[in-house]
Amino acid sequence: MHAILQPLSEMLGRANLRSTDIKAGCGRCGACSALSTYERAAA
Ligand code: SF4
Repeated sequence: MHAILQPLSEMLGRANLRSTDIKAGCGRCGACSALSTYERAAA
């Protein structure tokens, strides 16, 4: 998951699609996804 979420979080940050910018989806929910955690680490 690290190999996927690390570059994905950086791509989302560059596109202004961070979990704080979206209203739904795994990034926003975070119940079973660490994506938003990676986004915060990349910020
Ligand atoms: S529960 Fe899991 S799969 Fe469903 S939106 Fe949340 S993070 Fe994504």
